[in-house]
Amino acid sequence: MEIKKAKTQGFCFGVAITLKKAEETLANPASGPVTTLGHIVHNPQMVESLEEKGLIDARSVDDVESGTLFVRAHGLPVEVFEKASAKGLTIVDATCPMVTKIHVQAERLRADGYKIVVVGDPNHPEVKGTLSHVPGAWIVQQPEDVDALPRASRVGVVVQSTWSGVGFTEIVRKLSSKYYDVRAVNTICTDTHNRQSEAEKLATEVEVMVVVGGKTSANTKHLADLAATRGAVSYHIEGPDELQPQWFAGIRTAGLMSGASTPGWLVDKVEAQMEALSRRAS
Ligand code: SF4
Repeated sequence: MEIKKAKTQGFCFGVAITLKKAEETLANPASGPVTTLGHIVHNPQMVESLEEKGLIDARSVDDVESGTLFVRAHGLPVEVFEKASAKGLTIVDATCPMVTKIHVQAERLRADGYKIVVVGDPNHPEVKGTLSHVPGAWIVQQPEDVDALPRASRVGVVVQSTWSGVGFTEIVRKLSSKYYDVRAVNTICTDTHNRQSEAEKLATEVEVMVVVGGKTSANTKHLADLAATRGAVSYHIEGPDELQPQWFAGIRTAGLMSGASTPGWLVDKVEAQMEALSRRAS
């Protein structure tokens, strides 16, 4: 079986920066206990490795008594930063620059008089952070949501960094048919955009597509869904143990790609296991 790997593999630059900063913070004795709110990345192996080095995962800033609050790539709502400062916590902010850009774009649109629409999942931490910069913004996940939106004269749109490009385009089209003045800023990050383009292309060249990434990773899920719409049988896995021999029986070409928070070494392990299973099946 030939395995075709996507060009973009391993961590995106935002996750790579976050992990480097986390390692540095944990190694610094002045940091005290280091806490993140939620898993530092959507990757169980990396979470485990950093927790072994002392990283604490808390649900709320109310649960953090001392030391350092480490802000992961998704960012945090403004009020959480304020609360952490008021408690005297040291804040290490590893918010991805592409996420900060969304906050800035949304604030600019609001200052220009636009009613803000955020395209994304309201339960995703990044979106919660964005909404805190533009309180009262409307949230939209699918074109049908636009029907229920109130009237407005000017609508400004930003989108979750890891959203599907196709989904965003459909929503902007629907907004444009409802509102007179729509200004949409495509804030899907470059890494996500590249991976989605590669998934679309690769899925037309292979019979089976394996996408490696955390089950809670939005960008990985979108890649697997996208590959499925382009004709490949698509599997979203977290590691090599989930691969099933029957997936590769009689298969001549398989694609392999990863989400933004999947380390390169894990992709290599998956590749090796795919090769072993295909040899066994032939
Ligand atoms: S997926 Fe994009 S926005 Fe998220 S951390 Fe990576 S580069 Fe930043």
